[in-house]
Amino acid sequence: MGLLSQSAFAFFAAARLRTAWAALGVVAFDKLLQGNSQQTVFSQNDIPDPWSHEPSCFRSTSIATAGKQFCIYTANTTGPTGVSIITTPEAAQTIEELQFLDDNPLDNFLTHQQAQELFTKDPPYEVRKVEGKGLGVFATRKILKYETVMIDQASVVEDMEIEKAFSAQEARTMLAQAVNQLRRPQIVRAMSSDHGGHDSSDTEDDDDDGEGKLETDIMLTNAYGSEVTGRKFRNLFPLISRINHACSPNSYVLFSRAGISMAIKTYRDIEAGEELSVSYLTLGQTFAHRTHALRRWGFTCTCSLCTLPSTAKAESDLRRSLIAQSDSKILEMWNADKYSDAIGLAIEGIQMIKDEGLEHFLTDQYALLAKLWMLAGERKKAEAWARKSWDMLAGMGYLGNEDEQEMWDMETFLERVGSGAMKAVNRVPASLRDGGGSKEGLGVDERLVEVQK
Ligand SMILES: [Zn+2]
Repeated sequence: MGLLSQSAFAFFAAARLRTAWAALGVVAFDKLLQGNSQQTVFSQNDIPDPWSHEPSCFRSTSIATAGKQFCIYTANTTGPTGVSIITTPEAAQTIEELQFLDDNPLDNFLTHQQAQELFTKDPPYEVRKVEGKGLGVFATRKILKYETVMIDQASVVEDMEIEKAFSAQEARTMLAQAVNQLRRPQIVRAMSSDHGGHDSSDTEDDDDDGEGKLETDIMLTNAYGSEVTGRKFRNLFPLISRINHACSPNSYVLFSRAGISMAIKTYRDIEAGEELSVSYLTLGQTFAHRTHALRRWGFTCTCSLCTLPSTAKAESDLRRSLIAQSDSKILEMWNADKYSDAIGLAIEGIQMIKDEGLEHFLTDQYALLAKLWMLAGERKKAEAWARKSWDMLAGMGYLGNEDEQEMWDMETFLERVGSGAMKAVNRVPASLRDGGGSKEGLGVDERLVEVQK
């Protein structure tokens, strides 16, 4: 992992969000939070669009956020199950203003023709049982590199601040109600058996049949973290959650602008019969770190990377450590005026990244090279590397549709790449419930280091 390596992934999701917000003229979230945190947006007997239930509100019982309100907002007109959002009235108002619920996945991930194909033909995958893993998702035909295989909309979106604001049982009760209010709560509840190996007894404060226990377990096992307008959420995607983990996955998740929809896209061509996989963890970690991090999901990884012979595994770990250190080394060299050494190391990094199958890091590695050449005053070289990064990000879907891509110019691109600040992708581990603040669950590490001469 490097200072730039993973952040473009997250960054472009963030950039797209920012663009969408700017277009809607919504910048006032912070202002909304000031001074009126007790404000109730909705009066009783008045269920405003887009919600299908009267928001049901709870006041925080913790000292830190005493009196702060969190409500359950359900909109049952959207997605396969409807969506329930647990958050503050202020955030809900922003969600309305952002037209969060109109966030049609088709606009985000597919052209009109692709959408037609995805919805009129049989899906290119099937869900079936996998030995030791519960269910898994398998390709039913050849799937091409960067193809959008699956789109899904969140069923439950939970503000992570509720963990600090309420007791564990209060939070569970709210979650149970959020699921109950969905149009098809059974789809969410059926997820409890999807990932074999998850042992629900590993959370400490269980009372086994307490209200919301099942829903909470499902959330912690399956949710993806996201960040919208500075608030952190866990999102439960019923369909996408069926995809199992691999440390060197063949697919990745791409959030929509508003974060309520998600697509599964592939890193490479996938043959019929192959299982689709995504990484629940930040990419690029060594075997020991991965093994430790995956304990939260209660399974031992048997992916191709984790089952390498020990010599090959040690080589992989070494490369991963070097990749992780490479950005700070490059920065160090740069700051010591060793410009060509720094650029040479960045170029070496490309091969290591490829050897490790961490193509996702290339977008940032290319952008880093662009930035270094830019700083060195070699604009043509800078643009050539920026183009490589751009092409890859566009191919992967991070620059939006063709119209949106036109909004990017090279200056902005170079300026923004490497300033990644959003954590968007990975699943949220149980430890976060206890305020653990693990980076793992937040997905991409924040790397705000800027390369400056
Ligand atoms: Zn693995």
